[in-house]
Amino acid sequence: YTTHEVAGRLAGSLSEVGTSKWDLDTPALCVDLDRLEANIKTMQAAMRRFGLATRPHAKTHRSADIAKLQLAAGAIGVCCAKLGEAEALMPHGIDRICMTTANLSPSKIRRAMQLRKRAPGFVQAVDDERNARDLSAAAQEAGVVADVVVDVAVGTRSGIPAGEGALRLAKLVDTLPGLKLRGLLSYDGGAQHITGFAARKERALANIEANAGTCAAMKKAGLNTEIFSGGGTGTYNIQHLVPGFTDVQVGSYVFMDMQYLAIGREDGQPVYDDFASSLTVVGTVLNNRFPGKLTIDAGSKALTLNVPHAGVIGEPGADYNAGSDEFGVITFKSDPSRAYAMGDRVEMIVPHCDPVVNLYDVMYGIRKDRVERVIPITARGKSQ
Ligand code: PLP
Ligand code: MN
Repeated sequence: YTTHEVAGRLAGSLSEVGTSKWDLDTPALCVDLDRLEANIKTMQAAMRRFGLATRPHAKTHRSADIAKLQLAAGAIGVCCAKLGEAEALMPHGIDRICMTTANLSPSKIRRAMQLRKRAPGFVQAVDDERNARDLSAAAQEAGVVADVVVDVAVGTRSGIPAGEGALRLAKLVDTLPGLKLRGLLSYDGGAQHITGFAARKERALANIEANAGTCAAMKKAGLNTEIFSGGGTGTYNIQHLVPGFTDVQVGSYVFMDMQYLAIGREDGQPVYDDFASSLTVVGTVLNNRFPGKLTIDAGSKALTLNVPHAGVIGEPGADYNAGSDEFGVITFKSDPSRAYAMGDRVEMIVPHCDPVVNLYDVMYGIRKDRVERVIPITARGKSQ
């Protein structure tokens, strides 16, 4: 950030600390600190029970302050999806970073080597032989030994398929000069939101079986498997059943969102409330003239177009729609005469936490309905 931006943020934080959540200018992204802290504690305690470590994904919050809370609670490091995130977080002392996305272009590879120079705790994913050779050349040129994990695919998004090819890549990384093999990644994005715990567990375990086989084969070949990382908020309580697994890359659990609330709890309850919904957007009623509906000042630029749509707190019969860029519409289907005054505030649970957070410069850390601290979204927009 420029000095000007930092000064602006500080000035903002000085004036807003102590303000009631209901007096903030809107749309305001708010995080309830009691809930956030409880979620971090709950996840750490669960992993202690399961014998796994946590390496929370910072793609969700993009915030140095929240990464610090996770590390202070016992996380062994954080993950980043983008180099820009890692570059933004590192100056804040976040230096144990695992990049879960491979860096392909020459410029990204150069930036990755600079990060490795600054922090011995920087680890990066590779899922391709040519990329491994490029990293090796760049590491030697930069005069560093780059730590690498092989991204082994679960599904078809990223990664090299489990099996012979993955083992061959791991062996190559192990022998290439300038690289140090640390283990493997296996994140199953497709399993996280499967509705119903039993179905989710069955799919997640079946999907990752071949990856666990690759991990075992790497071990047998004498390769380093000190990292076997994956898992998310939907499978945090399933990953310990995977042989050789070391840590979970959970992201959304700190905030939760409408998408995760719907996936169902282990005991069969339809609402997934293992973690508390801590992240909300407060908006203001701009128009109440038309019966059965309200126009508020939070549209797709405040809440995105993701589904399920935002949930209006305290109004189970209301339906929110981010129909316009700057305006949202709340429709009271079951109670069309529901009355709100112009200027009234409404609070909403966000549809999907990660993309919403990226829309704001700061989130307001709220305790008992007052702003306790203003939390900069350190890596907001840093998607390159
Ligand atoms: N790991 C990787 C590679 C991811 O892409 C993500 C999120 O998309 C996560 C971990 C975190 O998952 P969640 O937010 O479901 O906890
Ligand atoms: Mn997400």
